[in-house]
Amino acid sequence: MAEHRYGLGNRGPAVAEIRSKLTQLGLLAATPDQDLDPGAAVFDESVDRAVRQFQQQRGLTANGVVDAETYRVLDEARWRLGDRLMSFQAGHLQIGDDVATLQQRLLELGFGVDRVDGVYGPSTERAVKEFQRSVGAPPDGTCGPATFKALARLSPIVTGGRADALRESERIHRAGPQLPGKVVVIDPGHGGVDRGCFSHGLSEAEIAFDLASRIEGRLAATGVRVFLTRGRDTSPDEAERARFANETRGDLVVSLHVDEHPSPEAGGVATYYYGTVGDDDMRSTLGERFAGLVQREVVARTDLRDCRTHAKTWDLLRYTKMPAVRIELGYVTNAGDALRLSDPGFRDVVAEAIVVAVQRVYLPPDMDSPTGVLQLGQLIR
Ligand SMILES: [Zn+2]
Repeated sequence: MAEHRYGLGNRGPAVAEIRSKLTQLGLLAATPDQDLDPGAAVFDESVDRAVRQFQQQRGLTANGVVDAETYRVLDEARWRLGDRLMSFQAGHLQIGDDVATLQQRLLELGFGVDRVDGVYGPSTERAVKEFQRSVGAPPDGTCGPATFKALARLSPIVTGGRADALRESERIHRAGPQLPGKVVVIDPGHGGVDRGCFSHGLSEAEIAFDLASRIEGRLAATGVRVFLTRGRDTSPDEAERARFANETRGDLVVSLHVDEHPSPEAGGVATYYYGTVGDDDMRSTLGERFAGLVQREVVARTDLRDCRTHAKTWDLLRYTKMPAVRIELGYVTNAGDALRLSDPGFRDVVAEAIVVAVQRVYLPPDMDSPTGVLQLGQLIR
């Protein structure tokens, strides 16, 4: 399709493909009817808007027309680190966002890459070999599961362990308010064959992954090291996700879900932290504080109903050694919530709320701002 141009009014399978890529990137709301019949897909106003937004983000001419270049960049954007094996192949260079992420991580770890351009060229291969040598792996220059794992493991040494509340807050205090060097693990719920809740054309697994990418981008921009517990098409179980989080020695974990209910009336946002409720209740004090911050920031910035913060002993909350929060962001079975969830702008606002909550965990009371007013630009780097 590369030799063609697609714009407002075009229809057919190629348009269906463009729509699906834009939806994957969270720029376009899912439209189940058109997804079912590719021939019926229309390049309408919403696609035009999404294409312009994408072009603007990527530094392309924002004209709403999908020509060969825009198509190529759109195609590259779908790759996430770990999605595929990567290596240097002269004459057939691998290009994509996953390569750019790899280059960024290599740079952070002190391995020289000419530039972060998303192209797996000779300098990237050289850096990968150097990295592999440094971790005692065969320096074959190919980025596969073992190398991804080694990259994920190599995070700044941060003490983990729930221990007790006093030591928890002591550690947060010592960590200081600045964000660079902090490690946050984002856990998009479900995935792969497990799509989670599904209603109004929305799949929980997709929403969670899209939201995770938005949070990842914003956190990375503040200097935070971010790890995702799963790729786009995998579904580790809760214990595996917790083990992964512990292996990265993350400082915080954010698990992303949306909810469903037989009653279409049920709606709103709730957050959960590790703890039991009863006579001898025990809880992660910091987990509770973090969950409260996430809840309040999301409620203050959206019009989702406030379903408050609760203690739970779910595996992910229990087995992670660092403060963890699980957010149930609205009900796909609620028409109002579903409408919000399908809006990329809404997802951006939620991503921002979560990033601000991460910052507020580290702000001493005298430096903190009231809920809902801290902006991304004010975060401490
Ligand atoms: Zn879920």
